Amino acid sequence: MKIFNSLTRKKEEFETIEPMKIRMYVCGPTVYDFIHIGNARPMIVFDTFRRYMLFLGYDVNYVSNFTDIDDKIINRANELGISSEELANRFIDECKKDMQGMNIMEASTHPLATKEIDGMIKLIEGLVEKGYAYVGKDGTVYYDTTKFKEYGKLSHKNLDDLQSGFRDLKVSGEEDKKTFTDFVLWKPKKEGEPYWKSPWCDGRPGWHTECCVMAPKYCGGSLDIHAGGEDLVFPHHENEIAQYEPLYGEPYARYWMHNAFLNINNQKMSKSLGNFHTVREILEKFDGNVLRLFMLSTHYRAMLNFSYELMESSKASLERIENCINNIEFTLKNKNVTVSNGSKLDNIDDFNELIVDTKTNADFLPSELEAFDKICEYIKEYFDKLDDDLNTADAETQVYEIVRIVNQNVNESSSIEFLNTTLLILNTLLYILGIELNKKSVSNNIDEVLIEKMIAERTEAKKAKDYAKADEIRKKLLDMGIELEDTRQGVKWKAV
Ligand code: AMP
Ligand code: ZN
Repeated sequence: MKIFNSLTRKKEEFETIEPMKIRMYVCGPTVYDFIHIGNARPMIVFDTFRRYMLFLGYDVNYVSNFTDIDDKIINRANELGISSEELANRFIDECKKDMQGMNIMEASTHPLATKEIDGMIKLIEGLVEKGYAYVGKDGTVYYDTTKFKEYGKLSHKNLDDLQSGFRDLKVSGEEDKKTFTDFVLWKPKKEGEPYWKSPWCDGRPGWHTECCVMAPKYCGGSLDIHAGGEDLVFPHHENEIAQYEPLYGEPYARYWMHNAFLNINNQKMSKSLGNFHTVREILEKFDGNVLRLFMLSTHYRAMLNFSYELMESSKASLERIENCINNIEFTLKNKNVTVSNGSKLDNIDDFNELIVDTKTNADFLPSELEAFDKICEYIKEYFDKLDDDLNTADAETQVYEIVRIVNQNVNESSSIEFLNTTLLILNTLLYILGIELNKKSVSNNIDEVLIEKMIAERTEAKKAKDYAKADEIRKKLLDMGIELEDTRQGVKWKAV
C-alpha cells in the first residue's frame, strides 16, 4: 500500500515499525459543542483506513483524543454556568453518539487531555532541562523554536519566513516570548479557570502538548501514522514534532496523513455565514451510511464540497446498493435458503480464497461465469484503488459497477451459489468502507420472524378478500418502520 506522507510530500510504500502492527493517532475534536460535519471528515476517512488495514490483517492500535480543556470550553461553560468538566463530558457523550451513527469503530483508547496533565508537566520539564524551553516572569513556559533546527520540516516552512509572517501577531499575555514562532507549553491560570499545580505556576498546558504526550503513551512509542485535518499541519503537528524529537531522539511519526477541508456550497463553513451543519442535524435527515458514502466519494486529500443535492445523490446511490442486496436476499429466500443478515468476510485471505474457490469450483450458469469474471476485475480495481493512498472515491465506483453486473444477473433462475457469493462479496466490500446496511435493523430491533409472520397473515387476508385487514397489517408494519412492496415474485419489505 502507498500513502501520501505530508512530511516528504510523496506517496511512499507503507511499512510499519513492528511487523503487522499499526500505531496510529488521530487528533480528535475539542468538545465544547456538537461536532460539525467538517469534524466528521477525518473521523470517517481514518476509520475507513483502519477498517481496510484490519481487513489486510494488521493489528491496529487506534488512538484518538478528546480535547477537554481549552479557551472555547472554558468560555462556553462559564456562559452556561457549569464546570468545564461537565460541559466536556456532555459533548463527549454526544460525540460518541454521532460516531456510532456514522459507523465509526470505537477507538482502542480515547484519552482525555485533563487526565494526562502529569505527563505533560514531565515533558515540559524535560524540554526546559534540555534548553528547548524557557520560563517567563509570570510562569509561562515557552518552547524555543530557534533551538530545534528542523522546525518547519512538516509544514515545509522556513523559520525566517514564518517569523516575518508572525511579526504582527504578538498575543497579549505572552510578553516574554523571545521569537514570534515560539509557542506556549504552560500558561498561568486566569480568574475562574480550571488549573493544575506545576513547578512554574498554577495553570494549564498549551494545546500542542497534549497529543505528543498521549500519542506515544497509548500507541507504545514512536508512531506509524499521525493523522488529522490539514489545518493541523501548522502549527499543531509541527509543534508536536518539535517537542517530541529533541527529547526522545527518534522520529515522532513515520507517516503524516492529512485530510483536506470540507466546504459548504464551495464556501468555508462558519456560523457567521449561516452555513454551519452539525453531524446530529445531518443524521436526523440522512442515514449514517449516506453520509459515509458521500464523504468517501471524494479522495481525502481533495477539497470536499457539501450540499444537500450531493447528499441526495449519495442517498440514491445507497438505495441502488440496498435494492441490489435486498434483491439477492429475496431471491435466496424464495429458494428456501436462509440468509444471515450482513454476513461478510473479515480478512483478505478468506476473501481471496473465496474468489479462487469460486473460480475453480463454482456451479455457475454460463452467463454467471461471464459476470463473475467481470466482477473479479472490479474487485481487483477496488483493492488497487484503496492501495493507492486510500482512493475511496474510485473504490466506490467499483462497487457501483459490481452492483450493475449483479442486477443484470439476479432472477428466479440464478444459481444459489452465484447469489450467495455475490452477496458475500458486496457485504465485504461495503463493510470495509463502513457501509453497514444490516445495522439499521439491529439498532431498531427489527424482529424478522414477526415481520414474516405479519406478511403471511396479510397475504392470507388478501386471499380471503379481507382487504381491510390486509391494509391494517400494512399500516401496522409501516408504524414499525417496515415498508412493503408487492412484486410479481412476492412481497418484499424494507426498513424505512
Ligand atoms: P477541532 O475540534 O477544530 O480541533 O477539529 C477536530 C478535527 O476536525 C481536526 O482533525 C480538524 O482538522 C478537523 N476539521 C475541522 N474542521 C474541518 C473541516 N471543515 N473539514 C475537514 N476537517 C475539519
Ligand atoms: Zn492533536
